[in-house]
Amino acid sequence: MPVAMARIASVLLPLPLPEAFDYAEPEGMNLQVGDQVVAPLGPRRWIGVVSALRDGEGHNRPLKPILERREEARLPPGTLAFLQWAARYAVEAPGLPLVMALRGARAPKPKPERLIAATGAAPSRLTPARTRVLEAALEPMPAAALATAAGVSAGVIKGLIDDGALEARLVMPPNRFDPPDPSLPGAVLNPSQAAAAKALTGMIAEGGFQVALLDGITGSGKTEVYLEAVAGVLAAEPDAQVLVLLPEIALTQAVIARFTERFGAAPAEWHSGIASPKRRRVWEAVAAGECRIVVGARSALFLPFKGLRLIVVDEEHDGSYKQEEGFIYQARDLAVARAKIEGAAVVLASATPSLESLWNAETGRYRWLRLAARHGVAVLPEVSLIDMRETPPDPGRWLSPPLVRAMAETYGRGEQSLLFLNRRGYAPLVLCRACGERMTAPDTDSWLVEHRYTGRLVCHLTGFSMPKPDKCPHCGAADSLVSIGPGVERVEEEARERFPDARIAVFSSDTIFDAEAARRMVQAMEEGQIDILVATQAAAKGHNFPDLTLVGVVDADLGLRGGDLRAAERTYQLLAQASGRAGRHDRPGRALLQTYAPEHPVMQALAAQDRDAFVAAEMAARELSGLPPFGRLAAIIASGPDAAVLEAYVRALAAATPNAPGVEVYGPADAPLGLIRGRRRKRFLVRADRSVDLQGFLAAWKARARVPSSVRVTVDVDPYSFL
Ligand code: ADP
Repeated sequence: MPVAMARIASVLLPLPLPEAFDYAEPEGMNLQVGDQVVAPLGPRRWIGVVSALRDGEGHNRPLKPILERREEARLPPGTLAFLQWAARYAVEAPGLPLVMALRGARAPKPKPERLIAATGAAPSRLTPARTRVLEAALEPMPAAALATAAGVSAGVIKGLIDDGALEARLVMPPNRFDPPDPSLPGAVLNPSQAAAAKALTGMIAEGGFQVALLDGITGSGKTEVYLEAVAGVLAAEPDAQVLVLLPEIALTQAVIARFTERFGAAPAEWHSGIASPKRRRVWEAVAAGECRIVVGARSALFLPFKGLRLIVVDEEHDGSYKQEEGFIYQARDLAVARAKIEGAAVVLASATPSLESLWNAETGRYRWLRLAARHGVAVLPEVSLIDMRETPPDPGRWLSPPLVRAMAETYGRGEQSLLFLNRRGYAPLVLCRACGERMTAPDTDSWLVEHRYTGRLVCHLTGFSMPKPDKCPHCGAADSLVSIGPGVERVEEEARERFPDARIAVFSSDTIFDAEAARRMVQAMEEGQIDILVATQAAAKGHNFPDLTLVGVVDADLGLRGGDLRAAERTYQLLAQASGRAGRHDRPGRALLQTYAPEHPVMQALAAQDRDAFVAAEMAARELSGLPPFGRLAAIIASGPDAAVLEAYVRALAAATPNAPGVEVYGPADAPLGLIRGRRRKRFLVRADRSVDLQGFLAAWKARARVPSSVRVTVDVDPYSFL
C-alpha cells in the first residue's frame, strides 16, 4: 500500500540485482544510511541495507514502504562504500558482497549458558571430594568443567546443588573483548627489525591511506615487526581497529597466541571454523567498535569495522587469498581498496611477495621494507636439487636414495623432517591395467583421487566420492585397478616402511579439518612428538618448528606442469616457503628438492636462493607479453547443461564484443575442465592495458547479450585458475 512519504530510501538487497531498489520511508522511522531494514520484493520480505536517502518531494510514482527497521547494528559508511566498490570491481551485483557482510549479523544469537556457582551456604556434610568442588567453584563455570577441575564425578556436583551449596544459573556469554594493552613490552628488536618497525610506525603516524610491503626472508621476524605497528596504531587512537588477514586457518592459533602474549588479551578470531553464535558476537562487537583486533581469513574483510586504521595481510603472496567461488575476489587487492576507502594503512608481509606487490614497491607506490637475515643465530637452510634422472627412486617408490639418506641422518640425530607434497590422498589417478580405463567422476572432467584412509575415490573439484570398486566398471576385470602416482598418504606409507620406528604424521586438509586439530598438530611438532611430518601446503607456511632441520620436496615439478601465467611464480613461492621451514633457532637446516628438470630457471633460482634474479627474469617475461602486473586479465566463464544453448550464447557474446583500444579478447574456447557437475563450460580471456577501465568494458560487454536462463556467466577479474 503506497503511503505519503517524506523521503525515498534506496535499499541494497542480498540478491543478484544490478542496483539498490527504492522504497518509501514511513513517517517517523527516521532512517539513516547503513540501517538494516525489512523490505518487500515480489512475494517475499528481505533484510537489506539502506544505501542512500533522498527527498521524496515531487516523486510521483508510488513506492512500497519499508516494513521495519531492524535492531541490528548499522553498517558504517566505509563498509557500505567498500561493498559497492567491491561489486563494481568484480563486475557483480552489490547484493553478493552484501550477503558476505551480513553473514555475521544473520548468525543465530548466542544462547545463555548454564553455569554452576557457589551459593555461600555450607553443605550439610563435607567430604574431601565436596571440599575440592567448593574450592574449585570460585567463579561460575559449566558443570563439566567444574567436575574436571575438582576431579569428581557429576554426581558430587548434583549432590551439592541438592544440598543448596551450589546453584545453577543461566548466564548470557559476555559480548566483551578484553581491550588489548599496547603498552606491554614487545620483543627486543634487532637493528634491522627496529629500522623496519620505525619506518612502519612513522608511516602510520602520518595518517591516511598508505601501503608498505614488509619483505623479509622466512624467520626474519616479520611478525615481531608488524606487532609493533599494531601497537603503535592501538596506542595512538583509543578507537582504532586492526585487521590481520591470514591465508590458512592452520596459522591462526599461532598468530593469536602471539597477539595475546604481546597485548595481554586475545584478539577476535574470524573464519569458517567459528561457531555461529560466536560469529554474531564478533560481528556486533566489530560494528560497535568494542573489538579492536580481528585475526581472520579473507572473509573478515567484509566485517563492519567502525574505525579501521590498519590491515595486515600476512603471507600476502598466498593463492588462498583468491576466492574462486560465489563472489570472486582477491582479498589482498580488496584489502588495499578497503584501506583506501577507510583512510587506513596496509602492511603486506611475505618472504616471497607477489610480482604485483613487488612491482608496486619498485615503482614507489608501496613503501618497501626489507629484512635480509634471520633473527639471532638462525641461518637460511641450504637448498640442493636432487636430479631424479640420475638418482631415481626404486620402481613404485617416491623417495630417492639421497633424500632417504638425509632423512636417516636427521632421524639419527633426533631431529625432525618434513616431506612436502602438495597432493592430498593416496594416488591422483586410478586406472585399469586390463583395459586402460581411467577412473573419472561421472559428471565432471576430472580424475578421481584415491583415498586409502577412507577407501574411497574422490573428486577434489566437486566432492563427489564412491567406494573404490573391486572390478573395473568398464571391462569388469577383477583386481585390475592400479594406483598411479603419489599423494601424501602414499608417501607416508613409504616413510613408515623405511622408518618403522619413527613417529610419522600426515598434515593435510583430510587429517586436519579445523583450527583445534591444527593447533594440536603444530604443538606435537613443536614438542618433538613427531619425527617425520608428511604435509601438503597446509603445513608448509608460516610455522616455526625448532627441531625441524630437513625439508624434502617430493615432487618439485608438480606446480609447473599446468603451465599457467603464475605457475613459475607460485612454484617458487611455495617451495621457498616450504624450504624455509627448515633450520630455525641454532641448528642449520637443509632442503632437498626432487626434480626431473634441475635446469629449469625456477629450480636454479631456488638452489641459488636468488629470488631477485628470478623475479627480474619473470618480470621481464611478463612485461614483454603485457601480462600482470604490466597488463590486466579477466576471464568470462559461461556454463550450462545444454551444449547447443551454451554454444549459441557464447557465439552471440563473441559477436557482441565491443571494439576497445588496448583490449584483446581470446575465445570462446572449451575450458580445460569442460564439464563440472554436468554443466559444460566455455571460456573467454580478456587482456587489457593498465590504462583501460577493464571493469567498465566487461560490464558493457556482458550487458550486450541476453543470457538464457540455463546459462550461468561468471566474470573472474585477475584469474588465478585457468581451468
Ligand atoms: P617471520 O614472520 O619473518 O617468518 P617471525 O616473526 O615468526 O618471522 O620470527 C621467527 C622466529 O624468531 C619466531 O620464533 C620469533 O619469535 C623469533 N624472533 C624474531 N624476532 C625476534 C626478536 N627480536 N626477539 C626474539 N625473538 C624473535
